[in-house]
Amino acid sequence: MRLLVVEDDPDLNRQLVSALTDAGYAVDTAFDGEEGHFLGDTEPYDAVVLDIGLPKMDGISVLEEWRREDRTMPVLLLTARDRWSDKVAGMDAGADDYVAKPFHMEEVLARVRALLRRSAGLATSEIECGPIRLDTKSSRVTVDGAAIKLTSHEYRLLAYLMHHRGRVISRTELVEHLYEQDFDRDSNTIEVFIGRLRKKLPQDFIRTARGLGYSLVDPENEA
Ligand code: CA
Repeated sequence: MRLLVVEDDPDLNRQLVSALTDAGYAVDTAFDGEEGHFLGDTEPYDAVVLDIGLPKMDGISVLEEWRREDRTMPVLLLTARDRWSDKVAGMDAGADDYVAKPFHMEEVLARVRALLRRSAGLATSEIECGPIRLDTKSSRVTVDGAAIKLTSHEYRLLAYLMHHRGRVISRTELVEHLYEQDFDRDSNTIEVFIGRLRKKLPQDFIRTARGLGYSLVDPENEA
C-alpha cells in the first residue's frame, strides 16, 4: 500500500512518514498544498494523510480539486483541535475521516488501516485467505497459525495482494502501489519478490495470469 503525507510542519511530517513506513507502507511526502495536490493528482495512492493548514494551497482546496478531478482515494484530514467548522468543511469537501491535532500516532495508524480496509471492502484488521492470515495491526503473517518471516518488501507485496485477493493485479499496478516515488523501480524485482513469497506461502496461492499479472487465491474456495 502506498500513501501520501501532506504536512508542512517538518517534525510532524517526519514523524508521520517514519511511523507509516514502520507500519509497512510505502510513503511519499509533500510539504505544501501545491506539491501535495500535484502528487495526489498524478500518482495512484491507496490513501492520503492531508493537513488542512498548508502553505500555497490549503488542504480543503487540495481535496476539493482532487474530488473534482475524480480522484477517489481515501483521505484522512489533520485538523486543528477546536475548529469544528474545519471538520465539517473537510467532510463536505470529500474527506473520509479526520484526526484533530495534537494526536497520538497510534490513532492515525488505526484510522489509516480502517480507510484502507474499507476501500477494499474488508470488515476487520485481519485479512484471511485460506490458512494465510495477515494482521494489518501488527504487520504479522501466519500460515496455519505459525508465524512466517517476511522482509518489508515481501510484506508490502503480500498485504497488497491480500487486500485485493481474487483479483488479477498487473505488474505495473504492483510497482505503483509498493514503492515510493524515489524508489528505483525495476519491474523485474516484482518477479523476484513474488518468487520469494511463493516459497514462504503454501503452494498454489499466488497464481500467474500470463501476460496479465498475479492473483492471490485460496485453491479450496475457488469458484
Ligand atoms: Ca499545517
